[in-house]
Amino acid sequence: MRATVMFGAGDVRIETVPDARLLQPTDAIVAVARAGICGSDLWPYQTMEHSGTGRRMGHEFIGVVKAVGADVRTMKVGDVVIAPFLYSDGTCVICQEGPHTSCLHGGRYGSDGVDGGQGEAVRVPQADGTLVVLPVGADDALMPSLLTLSDVMATGHHAALAARVGPGKTAAVVGDGAVGLCGVIAARRLGAERIIILGRHPDRIALAKEFGATDVVSERGDEAIQRVRELTDGLGVHSVLECVGLEQSTRTALSIARPGGAVGRVGLPQEEAIPESLPTFFDNVTIAGGPAPARAYIKELLPDVLDGTIEPGRVFDRVMRLDEVPDGYRAMNEREAIKVLIELKTKERRR
Ligand SMILES: [Zn+2]
Repeated sequence: MRATVMFGAGDVRIETVPDARLLQPTDAIVAVARAGICGSDLWPYQTMEHSGTGRRMGHEFIGVVKAVGADVRTMKVGDVVIAPFLYSDGTCVICQEGPHTSCLHGGRYGSDGVDGGQGEAVRVPQADGTLVVLPVGADDALMPSLLTLSDVMATGHHAALAARVGPGKTAAVVGDGAVGLCGVIAARRLGAERIIILGRHPDRIALAKEFGATDVVSERGDEAIQRVRELTDGLGVHSVLECVGLEQSTRTALSIARPGGAVGRVGLPQEEAIPESLPTFFDNVTIAGGPAPARAYIKELLPDVLDGTIEPGRVFDRVMRLDEVPDGYRAMNEREAIKVLIELKTKERRR
């Protein structure tokens, strides 16, 4: 089968790899119908050291079940399923307490003999705990929005929950990438009265406004902090969704929370330390967040996607075939595209 392999910074190729096949009785084989390129795939695209064997890529995908192991109970061959960006058993003590992302028997796609999502098929470990069967066909018009539940929409929702967004509150979203845009959707869905988007790309800002952003702050650093304070009677906002993970964006996020407010961090931190330790201490600012337990949120958000209440699939502004994926990485890295949807042909799915 064919799959996306990264060999180093800027070097993504479509390669022939061993076919996905069942190894454990808890596995399922999924023929990928749609996959996404994630903003987090761009970190290795910018920094990865050259590797002779390469690294399999992709963790956002929807597909059709091609085979199931003997212990798999909740799906059958032919079902359309969505995968959250990590796999998990759903039964260990940690999963039962909520954060599937730290499952004792879980892991990630593209490593330890597990296929990446940007390819023709994936062996999904812990299939019952991981995959969610969708009540639609593999070519349904809702596919782009459904696919966002595997990562970016779930992550935006997680940021909003961690930031304690609620009715009547003012929220700020730091970052206008796909996660930030989904954060705007999530903040509105949870009832925020005012949503300030911090970003500077005109196409993304326009989409953020359509999703419910009421104010735009295009400045950066101290000027951005100043501007948010001006918009909030000098107090700052109740809820901050940090959707970038860089030092400056984190500092901005922590500096615009008002006393007693909360910051939900979902951008992968690029620094060891969290800045603004003293001011956030004295202002009783809650700092929460982490990887989103997408497995739980898929079920929570699915009804709103199915009935069209939310349309997070609009963050995909480009559709490509599998053999065009290297150009998809380039386009996202150069900010030409917000997010790339990979559409696999039916023929590829049958292989
Ligand atoms: Zn678990």
